[in-house]
Amino acid sequence: MGEIINVSKIVECKKVELKERVNLLKQKGIIPKLAVISANHDEASKSYIRNKRKMCEELGLSQEEYVLREDITLNEVLKLVSSLNNDKSVHAILLQLPIYSHLDENKILMEISPKKDVDGFHPLNLGKLLIGTQGIIPCTPKGIITILDSLNIDYAGKVAVVVGRSKIVGKPVSQLLLNKDCTVITCHSKTNDLKQYTKMADILVVATGIPHLITSDMVKENSIIIDVGINRVNGKIVGDVDTQEVLKKVKYITPVPKGVGLTTVLSLMENVVYMAESF
Ligand code: NAD
Repeated sequence: MGEIINVSKIVECKKVELKERVNLLKQKGIIPKLAVISANHDEASKSYIRNKRKMCEELGLSQEEYVLREDITLNEVLKLVSSLNNDKSVHAILLQLPIYSHLDENKILMEISPKKDVDGFHPLNLGKLLIGTQGIIPCTPKGIITILDSLNIDYAGKVAVVVGRSKIVGKPVSQLLLNKDCTVITCHSKTNDLKQYTKMADILVVATGIPHLITSDMVKENSIIIDVGINRVNGKIVGDVDTQEVLKKVKYITPVPKGVGLTTVLSLMENVVYMAESF
């Protein structure tokens, strides 16, 4: 029988370290500040923003929210981003996705200064990720590495299979695992016979948004499973992995809820603090 990773405990330990860094900044008169731009009516987004606000308050970070009206033009949003880029009290800018469909997401993301790009989606930061030099790392992938690091695993030569190739999870986490010397296979909706790959995985990361896509016959004995999925089924939140069945076979698995989602918010805070430190 495997173990469900206690992600809450990992996050609590990391928060202690982070508070110390925030205190050091405060002694220098710097309060790390995050600006959140929200341009949607999405309920899930509102709940994510609430979680972020809560952790900002807990750690002593400042957060300012810009809730945009539905008829806002792209130009107006770009002007707002530009003024936040020039505001010396703001260290990090977050565009809460998704945004109203008439706005061009990529144009707005490109306008955010790479130095304030807390999600690490700007091509400069993604390029640094590819090269393997220090930049801003997207929050969910960074959080996944925090969880894996806490298990003290030796990455070199491990087969890591990532199911999903989105720009916010699948692609960056594949690159991070490659940078850690894993042998990486990235699967997606057009992959033929998914199971033949997932069965090879020492580390399996699943980010598809398909409830219980991964069943116990698809995983390797003693492997590590990171379930990124957040799906609402019959009023319950479930992941992309059939946790209870898979748990009987693997060494470790992350829970859903209270799994990767917690480290995503933590990583966001870490990025804000890092940006304030390097301002
Ligand atoms: P997305 O819709 O952008 O991407 C889904 C990916 O899954 C695609 O690359 C697609 O090719 C792949 N896919 C779809 N069907 C597949 C199949 N049958 N076999 C193999 N691959 C398949 O989604 P996303 O933004 O990457 O999010 C994925 C999931 O993770 C969602 O449930 C989302 O809510 C969750 N999520 C969680 C966090 C967190 O903090 N825990 C953060 C981001 C996303």
